[in-house]
Amino acid sequence: RPHAGAQLNEAVLFARHLAPRRHNSHKGSFGDVAVIGGAKGMAGAPLLAARGALYCGAGRVFVAAIDPVAAVDFAQPEIMMRNAQDFDGGDATLVIGPGMGDSASAMRVLSKALDGTAPLVLDADALNLIAASPELQGRLAQRGAETILTPHPLEAARLLGVTSAVVQGDRLAAARELASRLNAVVVLKGSGSVIANAIGAVVINPTGNAGLATAGSGDVLAGICGSLLAQGWQTWEAALGAVWVHGAAADRLVAHGSGPIGLTAGELPVAARAVLNAL
Ligand code: AMP
Ligand code: MG
Repeated sequence: RPHAGAQLNEAVLFARHLAPRRHNSHKGSFGDVAVIGGAKGMAGAPLLAARGALYCGAGRVFVAAIDPVAAVDFAQPEIMMRNAQDFDGGDATLVIGPGMGDSASAMRVLSKALDGTAPLVLDADALNLIAASPELQGRLAQRGAETILTPHPLEAARLLGVTSAVVQGDRLAAARELASRLNAVVVLKGSGSVIANAIGAVVINPTGNAGLATAGSGDVLAGICGSLLAQGWQTWEAALGAVWVHGAAADRLVAHGSGPIGLTAGELPVAARAVLNAL
């Protein structure tokens, strides 16, 4: 039987990537994350990503919304709300796509980010816009800065121009092909998420459960990826670590009786925080 990719089973591997919380730490020590998304009617998706980023330790977290619905999230006032059209992320790690839609302004914001030097996490509608544009695909492949893509099987299928049955038929091959075509670290989501890089490394994540098959759980994952990047993790380790922690958070919720039935994405950030602090 062909080798099915390394199994990832050592929590201890990740512990050494956590930035030490020195006594004299300040929020600038742990990086900025900005989540860009939130078209009309989709305000929750970027907020879930932002909470994923916040609870996994990013210093400052912004949501730059395509359709800003509020100046503050009263349930999570730590998150700073901005308008995507006139947002300058500085050197923040950008998480682009949750609930972003496919409007002209979504396209403008994505296009500008692809030309920038900030590390990017591209999810959801950002991936759909790229799938529909060979020009954006070319620019993504030529990017100098680091990129993580987090497609679910249908998003991966659109990017590859095949059906999701083809993607699911050989998940390792699909993730590797996307990573090398688009010059990025790819997380192909779903039961047994596959993480691949542009030079052919591939890993199957062992954590997680069917409780994650619920609205918004992918948004939280994108935020966790951004959080670890902002805290200085290398791209490959950030992708592996984020997927592992996200799955371990869901496993923890199940162990405490909060799933798999009725597990909600909004519970994942707090559970992920507990997982990280126990590493
Ligand atoms: P999305 O489809 O973008 O909402 O992302 C769903 C998230 O939940 C991804 O991180 C998936 O890997 C995860 N997920 C969904 N279904 C399962 C499952 N049956 N087992 C483990 N993880 C899952
Ligand atoms: Mg999604």
